[in-house]
Amino acid sequence: MRLLARLFAKVTHSCNVCGAVQRIPLRRVHVFERFHGLDHGEPVLIHCPRCRKGIQCPSPYRSHTGHPITIDPHDPSENAFVHAHY
Ligand SMILES: [Zn+2]
Repeated sequence: MRLLARLFAKVTHSCNVCGAVQRIPLRRVHVFERFHGLDHGEPVLIHCPRCRKGIQCPSPYRSHTGHPITIDPHDPSENAFVHAHY
């Protein structure tokens, strides 16, 4: 069951301006982290495709290297990686 939970876990990204929400499979976030070499727990944020002004911040999750990642939507961390087009 734990493996299944991991396979189907999703991260909820919500926009800090318009509130648009996307649920993205954690596995996809991990593929993205590996692709961009994010090894130190840099959070993956998404440039909001709906309002194009906000940043979609993720709900707390663990990176592929096991770093717990928590984001304050009103103060996204400096080392965050912003995904322009999701
Ligand atoms: Zn937005």
